This record gives sequence, C-alpha cells and structure tokens, in this order.
Amino acid sequence: MSEFLQEMNRRRTFAIISHPDAGKTTLTEKLLLFGGAIQLAGTVKGRKAARHATSDWMELEKQRGISVTSSVMQFPYGNRIVNLLDTPGHEDFSEDTYRTLTAVDSALMVIDCAKGVEERTIKLMDVCRLRDTPIMTFINKLDREGREPLELLDEVEKVLRIRCAPVTWPIGMGRELKGVYHLLEDFIHLYAPSKDGRINEGAIIAGLGSDEAAAALGPDVIDALREEIELVQGAADPFDHADYLAGRQTPVYFGSAISNFGVQEMLDGFCRYAPPPRPRAADARAVAPHEEAFSGFVFKIQANMDPQHRDRIAFLRVCSGVWRAGMKARHVRLGREVKISDALTFMAAEREHVAEAYPGDIIGLHNHGTIRIGDTFTEGEALAFTGVPDFAPELFRRARLRDPLKTKALVKGLEQLCEEGATQLFKPLNSNDLILGAVGVLQFDVAAYRLKSEYNTDCLFENVNVTTARWVSCADAKRFEEFRNKCFDNLALDHHGELVYIAPTRVNLQLTQERWPEVRFSATREHG
Ligand code: GDP
Repeated sequence: MSEFLQEMNRRRTFAIISHPDAGKTTLTEKLLLFGGAIQLAGTVKGRKAARHATSDWMELEKQRGISVTSSVMQFPYGNRIVNLLDTPGHEDFSEDTYRTLTAVDSALMVIDCAKGVEERTIKLMDVCRLRDTPIMTFINKLDREGREPLELLDEVEKVLRIRCAPVTWPIGMGRELKGVYHLLEDFIHLYAPSKDGRINEGAIIAGLGSDEAAAALGPDVIDALREEIELVQGAADPFDHADYLAGRQTPVYFGSAISNFGVQEMLDGFCRYAPPPRPRAADARAVAPHEEAFSGFVFKIQANMDPQHRDRIAFLRVCSGVWRAGMKARHVRLGREVKISDALTFMAAEREHVAEAYPGDIIGLHNHGTIRIGDTFTEGEALAFTGVPDFAPELFRRARLRDPLKTKALVKGLEQLCEEGATQLFKPLNSNDLILGAVGVLQFDVAAYRLKSEYNTDCLFENVNVTTARWVSCADAKRFEEFRNKCFDNLALDHHGELVYIAPTRVNLQLTQERWPEVRFSATREHG
C-alpha cells in the first residue's frame, strides 16, 4: 500500500457530542492523556505561547463559564492518528457545532449515568442522523450513583432511536463500583480510583468464568454479575460493525472520565471500529478520500487567539489527497490559485514540524477576508463540497455606535465577526442600519465585547422590529424584480451580498410567502 493510503487509513476524525456537564471536557483531557500529547488549535507557537496569549477575549469565556472557541486536537494512539474536533458546549453556539459535525467521520456521545438522555443530546443526535454519522456511546460518572444500566440503554434506544450494543458493562456503581466487564473480550477491569488524573492502573483480570474473577469480586458479586450478563446478552443486540458504521447501532461503553476509568476500553474500541475518512458529497460528484488530488472544505472560522495577530483562522478539513506546505490550491469560489504556505497543523508535540496533512486531518489557514465558511479548495478541479449550512437567525439587534465617527470600523468589525459564522449581518435596502442576527442571545454580548477589544469600537445592540429572516431566490427574474420592488422595505443584503427577507412577524412572513408562491424562502443557506 502506498504511504498516502496508509496515512489516510490511519486517520480517525471525530467530535464529542453531549449535553453540558455530562463530562465532555473531562473525557477530552483523558483522551489526550492517552494520546500522550496535546496541541491546541490556534496556538501557532505551541502551548506555552498559547497560555501566555490567552487574551482578554478569553476572559469573557472565563467570566461566563463557557467555551466559545473550539479547537482541533490531534494525537497518535496505537497505530492511529486521531483528530478530535472540539465543539462549544453552550447552546448559543450550536451552529458552530452543527458545522463541525459536517467535518467528522464519526461521533462520541457522552451521557451522564444519573441523568440519561438530555435535551441537547437529542438535538445533536438529529444532526448526526442527517449524514448517518456512526456514533459510539460513553456512559459517564459511574463513580456516582446512577440509573440502572439497562434502563439507560432502553432510554437511548427509545429517545434517540438507535439500537444499543453494550461492549462494556458496569460491575456496580457509585460507592459499590467494582469495575467493568468487557463483553466482547471477556475480561474484567477492576476499579481503582485514580486520584491525580493519571492513566488508571486498576488490574485487568480474566473473564466471568475465572477463579481469579471470583476471588477478586467475592461470591455474591460474581454470581450477580454472571446472572446480569446473561440477561444483558439476551436483551441487548450483539455488536455489529456494519450496523455501527451505518449509524443504526451504537456500541456502548461505561466508565468514569474523572477517575480515568473505562476510558481506555472505549478508546481501544474507537480505534478499532471507528471509520477512516469517508467520501464527501460535492456539487458535481462525490469525492473519495483515496483520490490523490488534494481537496478540502472550510467548516469553521475563528478569531486568532493570539492578540498579536488579528487575523482569523479558517479550519479546513482535508477530504482527499495530501496537503503539503507551500503548495498551491484552487480557491474554487474565487476561481483562482492561492498559495497556502503558512497553514497550521495540529500535530502532536513530537511531530511539530510535520508539513503534510492527509484526508481526515484539519489544517488552519490564515484568513485575511477571502475565505468563507463552506469554501472549497482543490488541486485544480472546479467542484464545491456541499452540506455546510448557515441557519436563519432567530434573534436580531441593531448595532448602535456610541461614537458615530467609528462607523467604518464598526462595519469592518461586524463583517469580520460574521465571517466566523456565529452571527450574521443584514443591511436593509432602505436604510443604513446594521442589523446583527444570531441564534443565541449570548452572541450579542460576545460581539459587543470583541468589537470593543479587537476593533476599538464601542457599540450597543438595541431591539429592532425583525423576528425572522429568509434567504430569497426566484427562477423568474422578472417576477423577482417585482417582488424586490414591492417588498423593498423588508429586504436586506447579508454579508455575502445575498438577498434576505427580514420579517417583522411570523404572520407577515407567512402572508408574503402566500402572496409570492414563485419566490423561494429558505431558512438555511448552504455554503459553496
Ligand atoms: P462538559 O460540560 O460536558 O464539558 O462537562 P465537564 O467535563 O466540564 O464536567 C462537568 C462536571 O462533571 C465537572 O464538575 C466534572 O468534574 C464532573 N465530572 C466529569 N466526569 C465525571 C465523572 O466521571 N465522575 C464524576 N463524579 N464527575 C465527573
């Protein structure tokens, strides 16, 4: 096999989905520990510099107790190269999460064993289902009293509509936690709480029938466990790799992220079963990862965390071929060649100077305003990857400057913030207003804060009479012109220059849609 194919086949690119507080951050830390190396995205000069550079902007995150930036972490594990794409936990940043999920090949769902399936998990699962993303499940916080494991699996099956195949099974819970049993490999991992967060060293002993297990667990526990496992094997689906890859079945692991218990079993299973880079849909054709010509798409734009560099980083997922430092690529939307020389890679520490990226990898491009979310880069072919959405915002505010002389800086700041995709800018055709749309109210605070700290413009966001927005288009140019004239007062241009209908009420939107059946009103705008 060529080196290229070997490298591609080693890649496992995934994101963790969970309801806030289920333990995503804690589990991420443990995974990085197993990987033995960490390098956070946006940290051009490595970790030390990044810590130093956690700008005032990060202060806001700390104050709010949220994480608004997300990052890419790459680490080797066994013979795999794992790319973990972090997603913001706060629901006001859900768009960013949705788009990140378009760039992964599989997902890991974390569930709190006391709380079971929660509301955000349901939504994220719906997003994963759109592309039949394979999902592995980690039921967390076993060191605390939780619900009955079978009941939890039943809830996942009913509420999330996916079959469960338990791979590990808890032996007790909370204070009674004794270990986990591996159903596929018939071994027991005894629980020994790890105090300093190190990799758990609890003993691995032979399986259910062994004297060793009987001695370690005692006669009552081993009898109960044998009975329970028999019951589980009768009630639950056996693991089926093809069903997992098709998104029909989720393998389930139990553990405690905080005590680093059960994590290794899950990570081993992940590296064994999770899919390598998958093909991607583009407008002209599907692109297979083993194609040798480079291609990739941008799924996220983020402000550079280093305050010395006010540029933004565009995150590109490599879909096929190899990216090599200094190579030229075609920026398909602009229709021209660009040199992507100083891209960031998110390699593990010991391979810091790697200047290649393979399918499944993410590279960070410095963006000075020419890259947008959804943009495709190729080695020449004019194709555009599809499926990276913009969602119509649900909240709108008018930006008002305290110092009217700063209008130019404000427009520039707003346009750049909007490129990151979390907020959208609308300029009504009939006024000079600048209207910002967002899916979550926190976005306005973040925007105001960043406009002040990064663009030195002090602005307020005040209420405006807009409830919802729809991108509009029409096959009949003449009719569209009539629509434009009649609805002039409700039309605006978004920051890509596309026409949007901004409605004061839902009823108004409905009436307008009924009046103009030829016009298409769209709640999402697909990039590309
Ligand atoms: P996130 O919001 O999903 O990223 O969750 P965090 O990783 O920040 O965890 C939320 C809280 O749960 C924190 O206080 C963690 O210390 C705690 N936590 C995470 N994993 C475990 C676990 O396995 N057991 C217990 N008891 N607490 C945990």
